[in-house]
Amino acid sequence: MSAYDFIIVGAGSAGCVLANRLSENGRARVLLIEAGCKDRDPWLHIPVGYFKTIHKANLGWGYKTDPDPRMQDREILWPRGRVLGGTSSINGMIYIRGQAHDYDQWRQLGNRGWGWDDVLPYFKKSENQAPTNKPKSDDLHHCGGPLTVSDYPDHHKLSEAFVAAAGQVGIPPTDDFNGPEQDGAGYYQMTTRKGRRASTAQAYLKPARRRPNLQVITDAQVSKIRIENTIAVGVVYQKDGRPAEALGREIILCGGTINSPQLLQLSGIGDGAVLQKLGIKLVRHVKAVGQNLQDHLQAQVVYRCKSPITINDDLQNYWRQAKILGKFIYSRGGPMAGGPSSVGAFVKSNDRVATADLQFHMMPLSVARPGVVDQFSGYTFCTNQSRPESRGEIIVKSADPFVAPSIKPNYLSAQTDRDAMIAGIRMLRTIATAPAFDPYRQLEHRPGDQVQTDDEILDYARRTAATMYHPVGTCRMGPDPEAVVDSSLRVHGIQGLRVVDASIMPTLISGNTNAPTIMIAEKAADLIGGL
Ligand SMILES: Cc1cc2nc3c(=O)[nH]c(=O)nc-3n(C[C@H](O)[C@H](O)[C@H](O)COP(=O)(O)OP(=O)(O)OC[C@H]3O[C@@H](n4cnc5c(N)ncnc54)[C@H](O)[C@@H]3O)c2cc1C
Repeated sequence: MSAYDFIIVGAGSAGCVLANRLSENGRARVLLIEAGCKDRDPWLHIPVGYFKTIHKANLGWGYKTDPDPRMQDREILWPRGRVLGGTSSINGMIYIRGQAHDYDQWRQLGNRGWGWDDVLPYFKKSENQAPTNKPKSDDLHHCGGPLTVSDYPDHHKLSEAFVAAAGQVGIPPTDDFNGPEQDGAGYYQMTTRKGRRASTAQAYLKPARRRPNLQVITDAQVSKIRIENTIAVGVVYQKDGRPAEALGREIILCGGTINSPQLLQLSGIGDGAVLQKLGIKLVRHVKAVGQNLQDHLQAQVVYRCKSPITINDDLQNYWRQAKILGKFIYSRGGPMAGGPSSVGAFVKSNDRVATADLQFHMMPLSVARPGVVDQFSGYTFCTNQSRPESRGEIIVKSADPFVAPSIKPNYLSAQTDRDAMIAGIRMLRTIATAPAFDPYRQLEHRPGDQVQTDDEILDYARRTAATMYHPVGTCRMGPDPEAVVDSSLRVHGIQGLRVVDASIMPTLISGNTNAPTIMIAEKAADLIGGL
């Protein structure tokens, strides 16, 4: 007999939701295994701690893409959380669901039960609009779910200028990007509760931790799924340098877009030719495992500010830092309660697209390199295309589970994506030079006035653009045998094995991916059902 009913691999955005929901009835025996540590680092819980934790070695996997000839042979950093809460513990906390159209497309691709009307109840089930928020449409929002969503706590002068400037160039203001229409410019909502980060470890796992039917093991990396005659029966993992095993009736992979396909491949499910070359015993040839990788690629336009009002300036002034700290301690508000981006916009790159296909962010700071702000007063605009057409792949490089897989996003390989990148940078410049920024704009620092033609702009993107941190799609859901999971998220051809995380998205949604991943896990819990 199996020791557990459900073994969940990975305590990230999706895994913590499932651990809570599947253990809720008190009957199912649930094991949650997480490669990373407990979420004890205090910076994980203070929103501004994002800047400290994003590249902290003991909290992340430290992934990089392969050198990409289309991106000037650069290896681009791909942070992923390795801690309770996974990437929801280190992310930028922006709460976005995407467009109804994104999910209707999933349904049109043959995934019954995944259209907008089907998934909206799960977005609402997870959501707790904070009581202090401005009122939102009741039909689309909810109070009382585990995931608290708060209005942005701090309205910086540069953020106010962004919304005003957007209006001056014809982008109307919106007070809810998750309302009936996504288009417009405004403040993002955040997954925070009373000034603290609402990771899924805090929102979902913490309230369930005392349940006797839920066991959580941290610092334990699953290296293989044990499969007997096409039935998944357990997992092999490493704890304290020693191998261990757990048996379960159902194994649910929640390792994320990089690790879930890697684990399938390590367990013999993947492209037969690749696996055999590495000496991995083939269980089932599924070429699609690790394919269909999609990500948002962001490029930045940085301005020098005339007055010392940016976060770069705050970080160079102890008095200001003390004031900001005081405000946080006193009221749980101010810049310390905010994330990297407070404002943004969703717009169309051209008249031919039916819905917004570009997302913008603005930050009242600028960075010289990851984690280090510029010495001058600077502010940054970011653009990314919402629904890229470029496709990449994640492929194991070794049978050793501790060797990172090859990550090839193939950014900008599609013409549509190159056009959207150029249009996005041009539109950011239009907003940045609108009258509302006149009191602040000194000069364009990056890319600078010398970059003007389409070719020059594209070259700038290839030299400097980076991930917006939203990789998805590598265990694609679909009805066809070429897909990895079916619409109940069961791995095709293997019994007792599901994938539930961002990797199952057939196409990338128009926006940030944490709330959609939580929705996927909420829906999966219903699909799996209790005992
Ligand atoms: C820097 C950054 C900023 C972001 N900002 C935002 C934002 O503002 N808003 C937003 O909506 N989205 C944001 N995202 C994206 C969003 O957080 C992710 O899409 C989402 O968290 C993915 O959830 P997941 O469950 O698929 O994977 P994860 O949350 O990454 O969970 C996977 C978990 O599995 C564990 N794991 C993996 N392999 C194994 C194994 N073999 N054994 C045991 N455990 C394993 C990992 O350690 C991890 O805890 C951001 C991402 C990053 C990196």
